[in-house]
Amino acid sequence: MSLDAFPEHILLTPGPTPLHPHALQALSRPMLGHMDPEVFALNCEIQGDLRVMYGTAPGTFTALLAGTGSLGMEAGFANLVEAGDEVLVCANGSFGRRMAEMAARYGARVRVVTAPLGEAIRADDVAAELAKSGDIRMVAVVHGETSTGVLNPVPEIAELVRDTGALLAVDAVTTAGMEPFHMARWGVDYAYTGAQKCLSAPPGVAPVAISERALARHAARRTPTPLWYCDFEGLRDYWTRQTYHHTVPVNLHFALHAALRAALDEGMAARQRRVQQVGEAIVSALAPLGFSPYVRRPQDRLPTVLALRLPQGFDDAGVRQALRAREISVTGGLGPTAGQIWRLGLMGEAARPGPYRALMRALEDLLG
Ligand code: PLP
Repeated sequence: MSLDAFPEHILLTPGPTPLHPHALQALSRPMLGHMDPEVFALNCEIQGDLRVMYGTAPGTFTALLAGTGSLGMEAGFANLVEAGDEVLVCANGSFGRRMAEMAARYGARVRVVTAPLGEAIRADDVAAELAKSGDIRMVAVVHGETSTGVLNPVPEIAELVRDTGALLAVDAVTTAGMEPFHMARWGVDYAYTGAQKCLSAPPGVAPVAISERALARHAARRTPTPLWYCDFEGLRDYWTRQTYHHTVPVNLHFALHAALRAALDEGMAARQRRVQQVGEAIVSALAPLGFSPYVRRPQDRLPTVLALRLPQGFDDAGVRQALRAREISVTGGLGPTAGQIWRLGLMGEAARPGPYRALMRALEDLLG
């Protein structure tokens, strides 16, 4: 099979996003060794740029995990939770539930705060759970719940967690790199994303940031981290002490470095404006066709994943298939929202007017 025969799809999905041109260029660089000085120098720049992207405090450790966003999620529980620890998970969608499942698999006693589908977690509900027990080891929340297009109130939740002694882990998969993220100011201890989302780099590396407090908690574990591959100490062997731990995906580091630099050069405020402008334009353009925002309260809407309720009687699968034949990919609902919504990605290079103009032209043509 020849890759030349593959279509050049316009990806309007909630990830992966179209590659940034600099990332694409960087991918074609010849291989270097993972222990070569040039790669360590590049890694240092990546670490510095991640500190800026996440808005970290001094002493925060940043790195790339060799895996996707889910590995970022798993590494947090594997390193910061021990069997029997109490963990409070905010779960109002598929990715929050994935967090709860992972925490349980690492032996945590999991308590869950939920919200109705399409609604944000309420800070009051988190406060009520925190008040019930003084021994919660970690609170975990998804910032932008991709499955429903909901933005959870991380700054408010962080405020509640601050004086409890619990660590705060935040899934920043659909936010960091596109929306301002203030790890230090908010009081976040562990944050992760996936390269293929807001940064428009290829999937396969997960940028993480670990606060000094989280590193200290990790150092005080009673038992070794059960996930050897992502043990925070092992990561520091490679990223800080420059000794071998495992062979990192060097070419993905090249691409991530280029994409991250491009994001910081553009600036978070400009990127946020770009998302907002394209998002507003697409909502206005689709309204006459019968699409409407799925998330009721405007403040709960995740800017980077636009969840739109489909028009009455709309042939979801048929239209998406017809779009795909025209080399345009859009994503429907997940689980209970399947057949009811579309989730349009506005992360990274997806948040450009050109691809959405192509979608509008195709839809006008298909729907008459
Ligand atoms: N968390 C959120 C909010 C996501 O949207 C995703 C993927 O879409 C993940 C975690 C898992 O990331 P990955 O598919 O890169 O493993």
